[in-house]
Amino acid sequence: ASSVEIRKVNKFYGPFHALKDIDMSIEPGKVTCLIGPSGSGKSTLLRCVNFLEEYNSGEILIDGELIGYETAGGKKMSSRRLREMRRTIGMVFQQFNLWPHMTALQNVAEGLIRVRGMARAEAETRAADALEKVGLGDRMGNHPSRLSGGQQQRVAIARAIAMEPRLMLFDEPTSALDPELVGEVLTVMKALAAEGMTMVVVTHEMGFAAHVADQVAFMEQGELVAVDAPANILHHP
Ligand code: ADP
Ligand code: ADP
Repeated sequence: ASSVEIRKVNKFYGPFHALKDIDMSIEPGKVTCLIGPSGSGKSTLLRCVNFLEEYNSGEILIDGELIGYETAGGKKMSSRRLREMRRTIGMVFQQFNLWPHMTALQNVAEGLIRVRGMARAEAETRAADALEKVGLGDRMGNHPSRLSGGQQQRVAIARAIAMEPRLMLFDEPTSALDPELVGEVLTVMKALAAEGMTMVVVTHEMGFAAHVADQVAFMEQGELVAVDAPANILHHP
């Protein structure tokens, strides 16, 4: 499990100041929930952590290593090292982004084959383990169209964990799901957290934030207005 240090990070979209001096520490094995109104910068911050989005100033360190561009001296991180680092970070989006023509097993195995250069047999063994872990051991041969939204999102999570990431990022993983399917995805995420995975989760699920997060970060208009234990930020029954 990894640590993440976010130091004085600023991000602009043209003249628009999307992230304002964001400072946050995430300790290994801890779960951070990012909450706040739509447009407050949660997704942008998450995408800066794996450098899908380039930030303009400040630093983001993963296990002490800078992801991004050197601020002192302006030295650019090699694109090879950036790719290597990204491979160690799992990301799950609101949309599941599964290949429709492949089975669940193939969807999970394909990343291992393409990105890791793993032989198909070994990749499928590992993919099967990951699918068992998310409770889909009996659905491995199904195509996405034959899976519920909750099952599809669990395939997407299996695809990420099969890569054995040191850090997992979730961007509103349950927002596209029918309410009755949210719980099964949160249960899988909770199990992952219990295993000691470092996780950053953008979510509107306040119950999950209250019960699973070690810290909750509340964003508003590009600012981090509070970071604290859930009980100190959320009012919950
Ligand atoms: P969501 O609320 O689901 O995150 P958004 O509308 O915020 O959806 O963003 C969807 C995509 O559009 C993202 O890739 C985001 O970076 C991009 N986006 C959001 N706002 C703008 C904007 N004002 N101009 C250009 N792209 C935008
Ligand atoms: P949140 O995840 O909290 O809903 P976002 O990080 O998606 O917020 O967006 C923060 C702000 O940045 C929004 O005002 C959004 O419109 C703007 N934004 C996001 N992506 C882009 C983009 N690619 N280009 C321009 N503006 C963007």
